[in-house]
Amino acid sequence: MPLTVGIANESRGGDRRVAASPASTRALVAAEHTVVVQSTAGSAAGWHDEDYEAAGAVIVRSSDEVLGRATTLLCVRGSGPGAATWAGADQRHTLVGMFDPLGEPAAMTALARRGITVLALDLLPRITRAQPMDVLSSQATVAGYKAVIVAATLAPRLFPMLTYAAGTIPPAKVLVLGAGVAGLQAIATARRLGANVSGYDVRAAVREQVESLGARFVDLSDVAAGGEDASGYATGADAAEQARQQAALAAEIAASDVVVTTALVPGQRSPLLVTAAAIRAMKPGSVIVDIAAERGGNCEGTVAGKTVQVGGVLIVGAENLPASVPQDASQMLGRNLANFIIHVARDGAVDLDSDDPIIQGTLVTRAGVVVHERVAALTGNAPVPGGSS
Ligand code: NAD
Repeated sequence: MPLTVGIANESRGGDRRVAASPASTRALVAAEHTVVVQSTAGSAAGWHDEDYEAAGAVIVRSSDEVLGRATTLLCVRGSGPGAATWAGADQRHTLVGMFDPLGEPAAMTALARRGITVLALDLLPRITRAQPMDVLSSQATVAGYKAVIVAATLAPRLFPMLTYAAGTIPPAKVLVLGAGVAGLQAIATARRLGANVSGYDVRAAVREQVESLGARFVDLSDVAAGGEDASGYATGADAAEQARQQAALAAEIAASDVVVTTALVPGQRSPLLVTAAAIRAMKPGSVIVDIAAERGGNCEGTVAGKTVQVGGVLIVGAENLPASVPQDASQMLGRNLANFIIHVARDGAVDLDSDDPIIQGTLVTRAGVVVHERVAALTGNAPVPGGSS
């Protein structure tokens, strides 16, 4: 028995992305699922209702009709500004998508109280088998690319070295702090534009990846040891280590025309890497794009969602960059979500009791309770025995 999967228009939550593309709809329909799409859901991403119809979807007029016909709802953002789209969901519904559960644990409690089952793909285990469903990677790829495009637009300098009749313009210097998925894409994009690029990450293992993109690795291993958990995520540094890191980065920052910051530690405020003193030492006209803005930012003075000028330096508090490239971000996200549904659906339902780490890692709420241990701990509730980790 197939699932009936619903897609709503999420523009009410201020997002231009959509949780299914015509291509991902086709994949779900080929796997014999029914796909119900709210009219205009894909408009901001560049797709007409007819494109979804041609892919085999049923088009309905309102989000209420989507909620009435589908029990499994795919969402771009199920919490924060996106929560409004799902106000009518109840205990019949399973929400699958991005929720930022470690950043918004209270929203998870609220969804649990409404009896909604939440499968948060932000918590997908970073195992090889789960890569085709990895929404964090796909959206971070878009964010890293767009951060460099934003920086190049605001910078007073050209990125590539240019030789013209009267001389040579040297390449702009771009420093990328944090070389995870977003940071590596930022490095690759800045290199493609011809900039002289350096990259830094607290995880020493990243050196090879940074260098393979043609960038210089900033090695601070003598001042910041750089812990890593079993899933490959950075663990937070203590205050003394962070102060040493900030001091050591200051000279690199001062020498850069553009700094793109992407450093995150899951479940924690993002580390402060660029201090006010480091900003004062930058050249006028320099640009910082802080992708970590939504988590507090890597830069002193970052204001999420705003561009501020500090001295002569522009600091962009980048918020939801993937939504500014809605078509390809939705194309990638839609494939991730469809791959997840095709993987977990069995006989018309998702077997929530399966011991598959892909289900157990993403299951956040069930039967009125936050069952995910890490999220439950953040809500102040005792972890539920037998829940997810
Ligand atoms: P993330 O978004 O959590 O963090 C971004 C980067 O910030 C990380 O590289 C992190 O090391 C870095 N960082 C944190 N604190 C820092 C500090 N104080 N100074 C400098 N840098 C700091 O990370 P991500 O991009 O989601 O990647 C996390 C890990 O998961 C990486 O090891 C990545 O290779 C891995 N990964 C694995 C898979 C897979 O399926 N196997 C897929 C994607 C990512």
